[in-house]
Amino acid sequence: MKAIRVKEFGGPEVLQTATVDDPVPAEGQVLVRVRAIGINPVETYIRSGQYAVLPPLPYTPGADAAGEVAAVGTGVKQVKVGDRVYTAGTLTGAYAEMTLVEAGKVHALPDGISFQQGAAIGVPYATAYHSLFQRAHARPGDTVMIHGATGGVGIAAVQLARGAGMTVIATGGTPEGRAMLEELGADHVLDHRADDHLDQARKLSGGRGVDVILEMLADVNLGKDLPALAHEGRVVVIGNRGTVEINARDLMQRRASILGTALAHVKPDEYRSLHAALVAGLANGTLNPIISRELPMDQAPEAHTLVMEPGARGKIVLIP
Ligand code: NAP
Repeated sequence: MKAIRVKEFGGPEVLQTATVDDPVPAEGQVLVRVRAIGINPVETYIRSGQYAVLPPLPYTPGADAAGEVAAVGTGVKQVKVGDRVYTAGTLTGAYAEMTLVEAGKVHALPDGISFQQGAAIGVPYATAYHSLFQRAHARPGDTVMIHGATGGVGIAAVQLARGAGMTVIATGGTPEGRAMLEELGADHVLDHRADDHLDQARKLSGGRGVDVILEMLADVNLGKDLPALAHEGRVVVIGNRGTVEINARDLMQRRASILGTALAHVKPDEYRSLHAALVAGLANGTLNPIISRELPMDQAPEAHTLVMEPGARGKIVLIP
């Protein structure tokens, strides 16, 4: 089969198409014929060698794919050959025509959700759900600011928060991205490049402050997020690309909290529960992933360049 292989860490050009052996599922494993692959920013950090945990070289990147079950190993009861599935983590990498997955990490792809949309679920929707419900414990009636709502995680968070009856303040960096957020039904849409957007968010909450902020770029925003919080408000740090200064008094005055999210540390019971919620939301139409670009798999280098550029409007996917 064809797969993208990385033989040395470096720029996007190290993502090269190669022919490798088809994987064979062992006990408890599922082989998925990949129809679409989701690109996540973390895969660019790993590819460049700038990440805390790096795979041994050579490797095939990627965690998120959608496709059909091609074969199952002994003992696999959850899925059968031909089932449409999405993956949330793979053993052999998602940037490939086939990928090997632990049986517990393939999930049913409901009818009406395309393979491209299925490739947008594993990391982004799981991160958004985990941050909103399992870290921030956001509840219906809360005001939630999604700070960076135009990308994979942000769109998922807007849909999850709206579906749960929260008031959503969503931010985007371009007019096109903000128009998409209006269409998604965000209650208020702000420009995260405007200097006063956090003051505006506070005003939109009636001066009370927002209950929860899901933060996609903490190194830029965290210090300014804290004064925009309500009493006992929570910021969940999802994305961060540097260091940041905060005034701890902003936390103390509000009895506020800063919480970290790392998808790698989701506990097994949280994982089970969040994917059950996602599959239900996809089936009942509350969740509907948005795809911004589709590229052939051999254009993985282009996809890695695009995912790091401003102006997100959904998910970039590769087609093998
Ligand atoms: P993405 O699809 O590339 O989207 C990036 C988002 O960041 C866009 O909405 C972008 O908005 C926004 N952004 C850019 N500048 C911003 C600013 N100054 N303030 C607020 N937002 C800004 O990425 P993603 O998949 O949604 O992931 C978002 C971040 O979370 C990435 O850093 C990713 O590495 C991280 N992440 C972390 C975890 C975890 O486990 N902690 C899991 C998944 C993702 P515009 O393009 O409209 O400006």
